[in-house]
Amino acid sequence: MLTQLTDTQQEIVRAARDFAQSELAPLAGERDRESRFDPEVVRQLGELGFLGMMLPEEYDGLGLDTLTYLLALEEIAVADASTAVMMSVHNSLPTQMLLRWGTAAQKEQFLKPMARGELLGAFALSEPEAGSDASALRAQAVRDGDHWVLNGTKAWVTSGSHAGVIVAMARTDTPEQRRGSRGISAFILTPDLPGLRISKKEDKMGLRASPTVQLAFEDLRVPADRLLGEEGQGFTYAMQSLDNGRLGIAAQATGIARAALEYSLAYADERRQFGKAIREFQAIQFKLADMATRIEAARAVLHGAAAAKDRGESTTLSGAMAKLLASETAMWAATQAVQIYGGYGYVTDYPVERLFRDAKVTEIYEGTSEVQRIVIARELYR
Ligand SMILES: Cc1cc2nc3c(=O)[nH]c(=O)nc-3n(C[C@H](O)[C@H](O)[C@H](O)COP(=O)(O)OP(=O)(O)OC[C@H]3O[C@@H](n4cnc5c(N)ncnc54)[C@H](O)[C@@H]3O)c2cc1C
Repeated sequence: MLTQLTDTQQEIVRAARDFAQSELAPLAGERDRESRFDPEVVRQLGELGFLGMMLPEEYDGLGLDTLTYLLALEEIAVADASTAVMMSVHNSLPTQMLLRWGTAAQKEQFLKPMARGELLGAFALSEPEAGSDASALRAQAVRDGDHWVLNGTKAWVTSGSHAGVIVAMARTDTPEQRRGSRGISAFILTPDLPGLRISKKEDKMGLRASPTVQLAFEDLRVPADRLLGEEGQGFTYAMQSLDNGRLGIAAQATGIARAALEYSLAYADERRQFGKAIREFQAIQFKLADMATRIEAARAVLHGAAAAKDRGESTTLSGAMAKLLASETAMWAATQAVQIYGGYGYVTDYPVERLFRDAKVTEIYEGTSEVQRIVIARELYR
């Protein structure tokens, strides 16, 4: 790694790697095959402090900077990308949104149990008809006395079936007076609220141990004090949070790419053809060299974006670059790993086919690669 780490960062990386390799890696393949979410993993992450990494200590968080959080997340992703996405969404989106825009009472109620892993966080922006064009969302909230009543469907909610807190975006403007993205507000939902139902569990190509669900709001009654921040600001909050969320996805992708390289190095050393280890063939060496170089480049851009965030600068451009580069590196590196494994890369006996399936979604969620390029190009003209 090119980044020079502080003593604290080295310590966190060691703790994350030990946990990831001893507790996550041995069961990651089995959980993937069985599409099994394991609440014990969330409990362990909470115990280690990994679900409150950037929360201040007053909320039982570790009070760490973005770079340290991303270093830990990369280690988790090397072992298990499904666990990494749950950790990324939780740390980057709902906890940060509550910390930044929540009232003192909301922070008091939710942040401590979230940091300890007692409440897993989810983020519900997308809808079946509103993906890249998220501001076209249609879920409607109507004020009714000291409640809001929500109707609509949220799609693709990571951890939505097991979340204790879901930050969800819904329209608070009226159908007669549409205000575009300024008619969207953010709400803090909990599974006990009447009218909140899991309407579908997605059967995914990869990240199969991370549950992804559709949520139906059927006259969902939300107390008025569960509005997050100001009415009409929910879309702005979601977009600002996704700038940072993308750093988490970039770290997840870097971890997947690194796993692809590490498995490839070991396999190329062990697999023999034409009387020698396949690592002796220059065609294989070039793949390994390119994988290592691209991973280092992706990580360097990501760490630059993390440093910018910690200096308080905007990460719209650097975060989009980091996410684009890391996710395309992950998909490319996983493809090389399958090639290096030959036929054995194509079957479930070996882990690289899982990496190949897991890598793909990093080019899709929290903004597709096309959307990242749109953001980058737009920023270049600013
Ligand atoms: C496993 C998984 C987990 C997810 N988790 C969450 C979550 O926790 N919370 C949440 O809110 N959402 C989540 N999402 C949703 C995710 O963010 C969306 O899938 C993503 O934003 C893309 O939206 P879409 O799938 O509707 O694709 P679409 O927007 O329909 O895009 C289809 C294709 O068209 C392209 N396209 C669209 N618009 C343009 C344009 N203007 N120019 C060029 N190309 C364009 C896209 O790049 C893509 O290739 C998750 C998705 C998945 C698959």
